Amino acid sequence: MAQVLGVGEAVARIAYLSSDVIVSVQPSLSTDSEFSKFLRQYADNKASSLICKDVPEIQHVRHNADPLLSLYQPVRSGKITTVTTDSSILIKSIPHLYRLAQYPVVIHASLHPAGFPDYSDITSIRNVGFTFLQSNSLQEAQDMALTAHALAIRSGKGVIHFFDAANSKADQPIAHESRQLVTEVLDTNLARQYQSMSSDDTSLYVSEGRPQVRNIGLSEGAAAPPLPAVNGVSGATSPHDQSSASSSSSDRKNSSSGASEAESATTVDSQPKPVSSDDIDFICESIWSQIRSQTGRKYSAFNYTGPANAESALFLFGSDPGLFAAEFQSATQADFFRNVGLITPVLYRPWLAERLTEALPRSVKRLAVLEQVRRRTTKWGPILLDVLMTLKASDSHQTPTIVGYQLGYLEYTTITQALSGIFQNLLSQSPIQNLEVGQHGGPRTGGTSVQNEFQLSQPKLENAYMKILDQLFSERLHIANALTSKSAGVEDQGIKSSPEYGFGSLLARKQHRQRFVSEVQAAAKTRGFTTDNPQKWLSQWALSATDAEKANKLAPEVIQRLSIDGSSAASKLLRSKGLFYKESQWLVGSDAWAYDLGNSGIHHVLASGENVNMLIVDSTPYSERAAQDAARRKKDIGLYAMNFGNAYVASCAVYSSYTQVLQAMMEAEAFDGPSVIMAYLPYNREDDSPLAVLQETKKAVDLGYWPLYRWDPKAEEKGEEAFKLDSERIKKELQEFLRRDNHMSQLMRRHPQFHAHLSESYGSEVRKVQKRKAKDAYEALLEGLQGAPMTILFASDNGNAENLSKRLARRGKARGLKTMCMAMDDFPLEDLPNEENVVLITATAGQGEFPQNGRNFWEGVKTSTDLDLANTKFTVFALGDSHYWPRKEDKHYYNKPGKDIFARLQALGGKQIIDIGLGDDQDPDQYQTGYGEWEPKLWDAMGVGNVEGIPDEPPPITNEDIKAASNFLRGTIEEGLQDASTGAISAGDQQLTKFHGTYMQDDRDLRDERKAQGLEPAYSFMIRCRLPGGVATPLQWQQMDAISTELGNETMKLTTRQTFQFHGVVKGKLKPAMQGINKALMTTIAACGDVNRNVMCSSLPELSELHRETHASAKKISDHLLPSTTAYHEIWLKDDNDKNVQVAGNAVQDFEPMYGPTYLPRKFKITIAIPPHNDTDVYAHDIGLIAIKGEDGHLKGFNLMAGGGMGVTHNMKKTYPQTGRMFGYVDRDAVHIACEKIMLVQRDNGDRTNRKHARLKYTIDDMGLDVFKGQVEELWGEKFEEPKPFHFESNIDTFGWQKDERGLNHFTMFIENGRIEDTAEFPMKTGLREIAKVTKGEFRLTGNQHLILSNIPSEELEETKAMLKKYKLDNTNFSALRLSSSACVAFPTCGLAMAESERYLPELVTKLEGCLEENGLRQESIVMRMTGCPNGCARPWLAEVAFVGKAYGAYNMYLGGGYHGQRLNKLFRSSIKEEEILEIMKPLLKRYALERNEGERFGDFVIRIGMIKATREGRDFHDDTAEVEEDE
Ligand code: SF4
Repeated sequence: MAQVLGVGEAVARIAYLSSDVIVSVQPSLSTDSEFSKFLRQYADNKASSLICKDVPEIQHVRHNADPLLSLYQPVRSGKITTVTTDSSILIKSIPHLYRLAQYPVVIHASLHPAGFPDYSDITSIRNVGFTFLQSNSLQEAQDMALTAHALAIRSGKGVIHFFDAANSKADQPIAHESRQLVTEVLDTNLARQYQSMSSDDTSLYVSEGRPQVRNIGLSEGAAAPPLPAVNGVSGATSPHDQSSASSSSSDRKNSSSGASEAESATTVDSQPKPVSSDDIDFICESIWSQIRSQTGRKYSAFNYTGPANAESALFLFGSDPGLFAAEFQSATQADFFRNVGLITPVLYRPWLAERLTEALPRSVKRLAVLEQVRRRTTKWGPILLDVLMTLKASDSHQTPTIVGYQLGYLEYTTITQALSGIFQNLLSQSPIQNLEVGQHGGPRTGGTSVQNEFQLSQPKLENAYMKILDQLFSERLHIANALTSKSAGVEDQGIKSSPEYGFGSLLARKQHRQRFVSEVQAAAKTRGFTTDNPQKWLSQWALSATDAEKANKLAPEVIQRLSIDGSSAASKLLRSKGLFYKESQWLVGSDAWAYDLGNSGIHHVLASGENVNMLIVDSTPYSERAAQDAARRKKDIGLYAMNFGNAYVASCAVYSSYTQVLQAMMEAEAFDGPSVIMAYLPYNREDDSPLAVLQETKKAVDLGYWPLYRWDPKAEEKGEEAFKLDSERIKKELQEFLRRDNHMSQLMRRHPQFHAHLSESYGSEVRKVQKRKAKDAYEALLEGLQGAPMTILFASDNGNAENLSKRLARRGKARGLKTMCMAMDDFPLEDLPNEENVVLITATAGQGEFPQNGRNFWEGVKTSTDLDLANTKFTVFALGDSHYWPRKEDKHYYNKPGKDIFARLQALGGKQIIDIGLGDDQDPDQYQTGYGEWEPKLWDAMGVGNVEGIPDEPPPITNEDIKAASNFLRGTIEEGLQDASTGAISAGDQQLTKFHGTYMQDDRDLRDERKAQGLEPAYSFMIRCRLPGGVATPLQWQQMDAISTELGNETMKLTTRQTFQFHGVVKGKLKPAMQGINKALMTTIAACGDVNRNVMCSSLPELSELHRETHASAKKISDHLLPSTTAYHEIWLKDDNDKNVQVAGNAVQDFEPMYGPTYLPRKFKITIAIPPHNDTDVYAHDIGLIAIKGEDGHLKGFNLMAGGGMGVTHNMKKTYPQTGRMFGYVDRDAVHIACEKIMLVQRDNGDRTNRKHARLKYTIDDMGLDVFKGQVEELWGEKFEEPKPFHFESNIDTFGWQKDERGLNHFTMFIENGRIEDTAEFPMKTGLREIAKVTKGEFRLTGNQHLILSNIPSEELEETKAMLKKYKLDNTNFSALRLSSSACVAFPTCGLAMAESERYLPELVTKLEGCLEENGLRQESIVMRMTGCPNGCARPWLAEVAFVGKAYGAYNMYLGGGYHGQRLNKLFRSSIKEEEILEIMKPLLKRYALERNEGERFGDFVIRIGMIKATREGRDFHDDTAEVEEDE
């Protein structure tokens, strides 16, 4: 027989068998409760229920989303409805409970937290009119669950079944309750009657106060056998009816009010009969007798165990009665608690006094009552009162002595001791009441690893807003409601966290201070002080008491004066000295406050007009918002507050704009009146990664679900706008409000660029209409054309499938076919059956998935059951790479989307035109090889194979064409910038703007969501500066900081090539940003594109003179190789009135003497390293210069290497990373010319037909080193000399303080992956800005994306150190692995990214740090790098261990790079995920710790132990890899 292992399963199963609808309350939709897993399982298996005709409906609801609201709808429509939850929701659901009590609703509540729950969750709601049942073991849980359902059906009243799940943890598995028993006990006939009734006419909202009545099951038919006892309840008067009316229990009156009406009740039609407590007793008895007769298990309202003649007993309302009983049983003669009984309530409400007196042996003279109730508001506990009332009023008993105890947490080992204490007190002459037993606060903190883990893994998320408040107002901050900062806002914490509670205490506090101010005023006028000083200071203070800034400044002065005065007047004031400070007072709460605004404390606060600040943290993740019941009453608090008209309101999101949060909090604090800040912190589970939170936030903000704004109703008095929109979109309701308020029109007038967004409506309807329009437009175009129709649909990631489709369409048209071509997702799926000929062309994305613009189409085709393609012919061409997945089990990913859709269309009845064609990137012509065979077959099958007179096709436009036609890089950029209808620029211009230092990107986190909303991608631009050698002045730093804040996404990236990069600059802000950069005497020209890029230079803090000279060479080379076009100046540096705003020189002209009109075949990179530091990775660039120091200590010249480069295409063996080859030595004065000549030979010999083969490394390898070098020397007219000796030691930075030869100081700080941003924990950006405002030093950006604060004179040292400390920038105490790690940007902005990098590497390092620590490797530097794609921006191929993105979440792993960047690594594993990465890395690090030779580097070690072969140079990069490709 099937067995039940745990109480969650036992209860879930009975609930499932006994309900139509189950509301499963969970911490979040993705986190299971102890019941939900089983409920889901049953539903997935379509298990049958005994009550529901079909499969019960399971509704999953978050616990902080007012879950009981979900009950009204099903209850009203006659559904038997059950809730599974933990007890934490009960108190805040009291208003619902009152209403639901009169319906047969069952709530199974697992007491929270298990193991040491607070039973006040139950005692606090004891009067809501529900029946309460308690179970204490696994078997009881199953039986009481069944009792609860049967009781609800038979009584028509709500039942709450509660238990502490920890009580039954050690219980043996039990047998399933048989379906037969469940059927009989439930009384399904009665259930059917209930189901057939609709309570539409008795609205739940208006029924409050109506007496609870049995409104079902009273007809003759329903009273049918088999159960005589039920008969009685179902129609006849129960034996207890008479006596119940005169019951002495006060609680009984609560639950049986109106019991006397029962006497006149005869049938349901004439008069429904109220349910009395005796009815409940009667029904329970009958249910339990049924259970007993079939199983032998006995139950009664109070469960007594122990000797029948016990003189003392324990009444327990708390956890683990089993443990107490066992202790009693094993008591010895010596124990105080020998021969005692234990009694626990099974039926807690109604409280049946008679049953208690029956259960308790008459011999009991002393009774200890233990209550595990922590939140107690009364002196006597609720259970003690119940017991007292019962036993004192009972005439049949000689009242025993009753002593109450409060039960805390008892360790297993201390239970004997605790019981001794309890009974010693009980048996004493005059026992003490209200003793506390055990630990009040629960198990000792820090004791369980679960708690520890929780605290370790989550503080970041939970604390963000509290930390900002703390940061802004520090000691002035006062949070009025009882929240711990740890969980502020994320979890609702019950009564004390409610706004009412906090508001009351705040008002009291304010009044208290007002009184104090009056006292001070009075004191200032008296002569009660011994010195003169206090009076003057007190009057001054009293005048400013309400001005926080002034009052707080004066407070310490006043306190000091009073302290030395010594008079009694002074001492009196000093007793309340805290009140000299004016606090920043806040109420902090969660979105749970949003459910019943009209009645909530928020309403009180707003209506009061008091100067109180509220911070409300909303944690509903964007992707779960739709799952919320539309009928819910969750209100927009911001809107509600704005409608009040007197409140400052702001909506912010810390993971979207940190600055805006700060601003809003400061404005709220300064506002004289109520303020409400709605703060977003989407939160799914305790272990949510910050990345998940970031992505949820972005979606919510970007799509207008959570707009960022600030509203100050008094701003207009000051001539400012009341409403400030800080994000781009707002939702409809807010839009309506603004429109009503006439603000909308003003806003639109002022910001016409928002117009389209503001007045747009959202949703899938838009998308539908768009699809329809696009298709209709096509059809109109095709009208009039002859020939067969052919619809070509593509799904394309990088453009190949799209280009192929468009070309196919052109060719089809030329053959007389009516062709239509569009992305799969743009095609209305319902039209597919009407198409005659459909050709699908799809690429393969990720792990065999559809590219983004075909995913919805595929989902539709895959899941549709009614697409009939009997009249449709189709074929498919698929593009993929047969070697992308080396492992056998992954081979099926090859061209999977194409193969899948081909099979599916066939299954839907489609006829194939021709067989599927497969394009393979491994073929000689890549996918073109397969396509070349497939296309002619298609034309033949369509009957247009031999058509004469087909016009010649224009050749495809290449990058070379774009450059040549661009008029020296102008293209149509200017026009594109003017076009406000789109955030994008044209494809051709996208190539050209790279030469100007900017790329168009789109936010990839938002792609899917925006598409679903019918919006274009969230386009923005990346801007890269040109900063030779990475040296910036403090002023330049401040200017860059301001640009990122005002025009970008508030962050800056310090790149691997030592420059500033801005992200998230929208098109309209591109020009101002470029002008700002120019004003800072920097430029962006040639920062990207097919030109020489930024020239790098070692940072060398310890030798400043040599650095200065080398840096000068870097600048000279950079300037020498700049393009000459005036287009840059023309496009970016003229203002709207065509006035010249260029600051940094004007010496450019339209002639490119060096580059010519087509510039270089590919990008060109130069770097300088100064031995022994290879911190710029000198081997990885087109030209690597190794600085050679002369004997005089000055720069002499350079060893020049050429042909290094990183970019690779996965699996394309023709591409490889390469290290630079040595050309020889060049004097410092000639080096720029030598560089120029190398560039020119590359210009003329580089492969312009294939961009993947166009870098200098291939040109040199193809031509041969000697030939290439010979051509350079010939062009130059000079020869390279023999290289000079040099020696490198590492390619990482040296962190901390260093002194140079001039005595100036330099501090290298750790900037993780180069990202400069503020967070609540680490206000790094602010700190650097503040330092830049005061320092006389300079900022040096390193090639490892870190930062050096340079040239600090010794007299400024202390102050600088203090500032670094203040902003936590002085911390370099990280693991050496972290300090040596580096990642590129990748998601969300880089269009080429296949996997996360910058956002993920820090997490991966964290996961390895424990292992480093264990193996004593914390201080060992291992160079680890990660990039999101094989373009290799963070130079992964030179790292000792590297991860390069292959698909989302999957990386190729490389091992064996040289520690100082001299040797390439080699592929170790392909497409591995985090789990496998850790599986490989952890044992490997352990081995390294144990087996390495002295001083042996990790990269050398893995080669020595044979894990990987050494790569000698780029051309053997693909040979002897560790992973052999497996055959299918
Ligand atoms: S390596 Fe690839 S993913 Fe990373 S920033 Fe460069 S191009 Fe983007």
